Amino acid sequence: LPVVAIVGRPNVGKSALVNRILGRREAVVEDTPGVTRDRVTYKAEWLDRRFSLVDTGGWEPDARGIDASVAAQAEVAIDLSDVVLFVVDAMVGATATDEHVVKLLRKSGKPVFLVANKIDDARQEPEAAALWNLGLGEPHPVSAIHGRGVADLLDEVMKVLPTVSAVASAEIGGPRRVAILGRPNVGKSSLLNKAAGEERVVVNELAGTTRDPVDEIVELGGKMWRLVDTAGIRRRVHLSQGADFYASLRTSAALEKAEVAVVVIDVTQPISVQDLNIIDLVLESGRALVIAYNKWDRLNDDDMDGQDRRRFLEREIERDLAHVAWAPRVNISAKTGRHLDKLVPALETALSSWDQRIPTGKFNAFLSELVAEHPHPLRGGKQPRILFGTQAASRPPTFVLFTTGFLDPGYRRFIQRRLREIYGFEGSPIVLNMRIRE
Ligand code: GDP
Repeated sequence: LPVVAIVGRPNVGKSALVNRILGRREAVVEDTPGVTRDRVTYKAEWLDRRFSLVDTGGWEPDARGIDASVAAQAEVAIDLSDVVLFVVDAMVGATATDEHVVKLLRKSGKPVFLVANKIDDARQEPEAAALWNLGLGEPHPVSAIHGRGVADLLDEVMKVLPTVSAVASAEIGGPRRVAILGRPNVGKSSLLNKAAGEERVVVNELAGTTRDPVDEIVELGGKMWRLVDTAGIRRRVHLSQGADFYASLRTSAALEKAEVAVVVIDVTQPISVQDLNIIDLVLESGRALVIAYNKWDRLNDDDMDGQDRRRFLEREIERDLAHVAWAPRVNISAKTGRHLDKLVPALETALSSWDQRIPTGKFNAFLSELVAEHPHPLRGGKQPRILFGTQAASRPPTFVLFTTGFLDPGYRRFIQRRLREIYGFEGSPIVLNMRIRE
């Protein structure tokens, strides 16, 4: 999906605008800065067009941190979205922070809409007009809270929004899109350098812009791949606060553009909450997944500490990563190059699972056999029956079951397990939805 990102200082009304665009009533809006929200990307729709809406304002800093925070928002928006909505509080006017961001946005060459918020009625429109002087073109006066002007704004956005994301559209039949993810220092940039070598084609150079590269085209295992958001790998966000939020924002936005994620884990460190959060973001995105265990050279065979760490690592994997046991695992060293040749087959397996389609006839034969062998447990003397099933979509494989009642979560997991036993789906999540017929 094409991506629209919302950027602006704290309290200008970014979340109100998000809610308005999503058409939600339960506003997550609060007047106090510092409200954190756990989601950053939403599926939105306007005039029958679907797009992803990225809310970059989920972490709102105290006064000291504002500049860095808004710059980080702008950075993600510029690198990873197709259109940017830059929100200014028209009642306050432009501040020094705003002017700094405007420079970044103007240089980016991305379509930017200047949104003059808090224009609750027509008498306030001159306040919006004053924002012409930012040099971002016409200000769009809106009231995110009351909805005024938002429809007109979205109409304009739809005129410049590509039907598919710029990245995806360049890629139909082209290189497949991979995101390399992981917490800082696990070896992402070492992996990029070792596996992809120096002759990488930087996609942005083609367009003639001077910014840091966003995506790079590389040859791996005799095939071309598009590595998305390599800028995010090289750039360190220098923030004393909020760095985790911007790292997740970047991860979520990169996943929007990717088809498969390589999550890099440092085997010399215990598996951490941050590692698990990144895997959760991949699962939430529905993308294919490969897990690369890096720095394997540090776990020497003949070294006692190395042996100990290996044993612990296996236990940690069993305990913390059992829910993604379906993801191909590669044990690599970005330093020595060990087993880097295993990465491409793993990516290919994961992508072909992600693309896989099971014909409806076969899927229903599979379901009848499964039900005959293991019927759903009785619930209050009754038994929900599966009437019919079909694979509604691939990428990721999404199945719909028509049933006479709610299927227990345990039974649904059993169906998923069985699907994996029979059809593989290695490296891909499986989505199982139910439609209950009375
Ligand atoms: P990033 O933040 O994930 O991009 O991590 P870097 O690629 O910058 O690597 C962080 C540190 O780990 C650097 O000092 C690397 O030299 C080191 N490193 C990365 N991969 C390996 C590896 O496979 N083995 C060893 N021993 N060190 C590694």
